[in-house]
Amino acid sequence: MKQQSIAIDMDNVLADVEGHAIAWYKKEYGVSYSKEQLNGQPEGSGFENQEAFWRYVHSPGFFRTVPVMDGALDVLQKLNTIFDIYVVSAAMEFPQSLEEKYEWLDEHCPFITWKQRIFCGDKSVIHTDYMLDDHTKNLDHHQGTSLLFTACHNTLIKHHKRLNNWKEVGVYFNI
Ligand SMILES: [Mg+2]
Repeated sequence: MKQQSIAIDMDNVLADVEGHAIAWYKKEYGVSYSKEQLNGQPEGSGFENQEAFWRYVHSPGFFRTVPVMDGALDVLQKLNTIFDIYVVSAAMEFPQSLEEKYEWLDEHCPFITWKQRIFCGDKSVIHTDYMLDDHTKNLDHHQGTSLLFTACHNTLIKHHKRLNNWKEVGVYFNI
């Protein structure tokens, strides 16, 4: 029987971009934010200096050094033995990130082969059985089962099945 397929996002799903931006902001401005302080606000807008986030995500080295999301690798590795896994990133929004994201996957997820990596613009071309993502702009157009991975910017969203962390992802897929 054909395995079911899952499209898994990188930023704020496999890679803790919000946590990384908080760390860069603290380094630059000396001001600490908790994720809870950023909850319910569009990306970047929770910081006092709102342009900082967008400057960071366009900075060389930012995506290459993002920490792995807690618990992601163990669950991803197990899912990879049961499902057809595709890591799908709308990386074209940040052209300088393409090589960095590829190297990041080589370092942290070497079991995800190049054939399982999709760097794209619009994710509506992705027709997998499941899509795990932190953005409704991607999930709203997905024809399979949509799964919203909790991020600070999406805490107020109600119209998708929500998984709060990788432990809940593992439970959802019975692994
Ligand atoms: Mg994302």
